[in-house]
Amino acid sequence: MTQVEFNEQWSVDELPACDTGMELLKHFADMHPEFTASYIRRLAWADEVDTFTAADPLWTAYVRHVSDCPHCNDL
Ligand SMILES: [Zn+2]
Repeated sequence: MTQVEFNEQWSVDELPACDTGMELLKHFADMHPEFTASYIRRLAWADEVDTFTAADPLWTAYVRHVSDCPHCNDL
């Protein structure tokens, strides 16, 4: 996936992230083409993202960054 394709798909309100957060999210997206951004958004609306992704170290890294990062929650 190119950076442009990634930004088009993953820059959404449900996944607020700074540049570093988006980089972590891109790692996840690159490793998991089966998880599309629209699928993750549906899970986010239902508050079920963690149910499907909690065991994934790349997703965990993203979530941990977002919860610790003052910039991510600022957007
Ligand atoms: Zn951040």
